[in-house]
Amino acid sequence: MTEQSNRKQSIMTRVAQALHFVEPETGAVVPSIQPTATYARDENYEIRKPYWYRRDGSQTTAHAEAIIAELENAAESLLFSSGMSACTAVIEHLPTGAHVVVPKVMYHGVLQQIQKYEENKRIVVSYYAAGNLEEMAKAVRKGETQLVWVETPNNPNWEVTDIAAAAEIAHAAGAKLMADCTGTPPSMTRSLDLGADISFHSATKYLNGHSDVTAGVLSVKETGQYWDDIFWVRKLQGTVLHSQDAWLLIRGMRTLFLRVERACQNAMSLAKHFDGHPHIEKVLYPGLASDPGHEVAKRQTDGQFGGMMSIIIKGTEQNAIDVTRFCQLFYPATSLGGVESLVEHRKTVSGEGFPVHPQLLRLSIGIEDADDLIYDLEQALARAFA
Ligand SMILES: *Cc1c(COP(=O)(O)O)cnc(C)c1O
Repeated sequence: MTEQSNRKQSIMTRVAQALHFVEPETGAVVPSIQPTATYARDENYEIRKPYWYRRDGSQTTAHAEAIIAELENAAESLLFSSGMSACTAVIEHLPTGAHVVVPKVMYHGVLQQIQKYEENKRIVVSYYAAGNLEEMAKAVRKGETQLVWVETPNNPNWEVTDIAAAAEIAHAAGAKLMADCTGTPPSMTRSLDLGADISFHSATKYLNGHSDVTAGVLSVKETGQYWDDIFWVRKLQGTVLHSQDAWLLIRGMRTLFLRVERACQNAMSLAKHFDGHPHIEKVLYPGLASDPGHEVAKRQTDGQFGGMMSIIIKGTEQNAIDVTRFCQLFYPATSLGGVESLVEHRKTVSGEGFPVHPQLLRLSIGIEDADDLIYDLEQALARAFA
């Protein structure tokens, strides 16, 4: 073996080249899309493994899964047609009556889904304040809790949870730890290496990065019956990621490291600029040294702090809504993790009853010029308070 072939390549290199893809027949460096819904058996009427019908998966989807598995240091990854369908598969695979521990405030869709299952007596739920490990430790029941759910950084206030410490709490009780690190993709946070049992990302967000796909991914270091059960939910509900979307995801992931690095730099510039601004009550961003999650985030997210932040506007709820109306560069849209910056009034989007500050604006910082973004928010704030 040559010295070169022994040398471990950086994950940045591996992802940029989609795992050094070369199509054997033609030498194409971009994979083809495999759109087929069914696969012909061979001359002995045997299934040509590993595929036989699209609900099990396809070659294009498996290629995207292999890239994410490398990013996550995982044994296996499974892609779903949305983040929500991946989360639903995890909830659905639990036996009836299972006890789960989740944050009181988290991504609203997941919280609503968990509450629906709780109302229907499918699962039993205990809650802890996001990021609060003492409350988490009190909420788990030894020998009874099956799943502890962590979202870090946590929507929409960006509390940081120490994943390694949460894993200890979950494991001491005999539970698995599920970590939703959508806000800090695996170029920054590898939750499985920190002790999580199931890593989840909405791949709609940073992994794809171009706001043209919905996708969700689960990754694990250890497979087993529970993983087979999750696979079966995907198969029977037909929520595997389509080949076309997997292809777009492969293309998007090639620039993951570059996009995320730029978004983090931009977010830090904006957070520093608007911290202490006369029209802003508070900037919620773990990158600020004053943020309670700063030290844990520094360790857990490779010294970067992500592209997500929230600002709490002074004045009234209408002032906050006006800022989103007057932005000319930030799109007034939901979602996050794309190359374009988005602003949203979270209370309007989460719906009545969801516990969120009425003047909170969630910002997804993209890869545009930071000065342009700062100028846009400044002029929108000036108009909203004129
Ligand atoms: C977007 C998101 C989800 C849900 O993912 P979809 O792809 O929109 O279904 C779950 N968790 C977090 C933190 C998210 O940001």
